[in-house]
Amino acid sequence: MKICWFNDDRLGVVQEGAVWDVTDALKALPAPTYPNRSGDLALANLPLLQEAIRTQLSQAPSYSADSVRFLSPVANPGKIIGVPVNYQKHVEEARADVATFTNRETGTVIEQGLFLKATSSLIGCAESVRISMPERLTHHEIELAAIIGKRAKDVSEADALSYVAGYSIALDMTVRGAEDRSMRKSVDTYSVLGPWLVTADEIADPQKLQMRLQVNGVDRQVANTSEMIIFVAEQIAWASRFYTLEPGDVIMTGTCEGVGPVVPGDVMQADIEGIGSMKVLVA
Ligand code: MN
Repeated sequence: MKICWFNDDRLGVVQEGAVWDVTDALKALPAPTYPNRSGDLALANLPLLQEAIRTQLSQAPSYSADSVRFLSPVANPGKIIGVPVNYQKHVEEARADVATFTNRETGTVIEQGLFLKATSSLIGCAESVRISMPERLTHHEIELAAIIGKRAKDVSEADALSYVAGYSIALDMTVRGAEDRSMRKSVDTYSVLGPWLVTADEIADPQKLQMRLQVNGVDRQVANTSEMIIFVAEQIAWASRFYTLEPGDVIMTGTCEGVGPVVPGDVMQADIEGIGSMKVLVA
């Protein structure tokens, strides 16, 4: 199932090029309580929500997918985890251009560890990436996003994928420079997620997905998730050793080679096999 948030916080299901408004299915969720200790309410109750969505579908109004504004498919993530330099050819391009990437971005994910992005940076694909610090380089990074559906702590690699609710396309937008990643990658609008969440049952193997990012119609990044240095399952197992993962947490699983600058007016198109395609404007 492809689940989205669209327009004015409407809940949708995407089928056959249309978005079906199943917002009434939210009534099936338990009433929110305060304080909330269970992560994103919709992701924490996804099986219940999907059952309610199936019931709603027959009477749901629909819209052409081209006509709606897609918001982030995760409404309330507790954290966004980043996986740096997780494709060998990206390790090599960073190593070959220390002037752009700085010495602290050389080496692989194993040496560098994980990092966090502020949740306030998160947007959907209908919003625009607003360039911060125009005198500096802002790069695009297309990544497979894994979205957690169940609390995970110290999970094994063998069990790790059972904690994934679904997958989306992510753009880990990045100001290049010497500051800590948590500053350069957490600028408002620098985390894009979309266009929807594809539930994990529809992705037979997250390590066999072709991905492509174009800027103004020209290929920049083309790779396959099979080229990751550490796979999604290992990322989840590793992350869960020091972070408790909660429903709605997003893992951006690393970018491939071909990262490059964008400027206001550019149009990024990101595609990942089995998920879909999204266009994101740079403003
Ligand atoms: Mn990245």
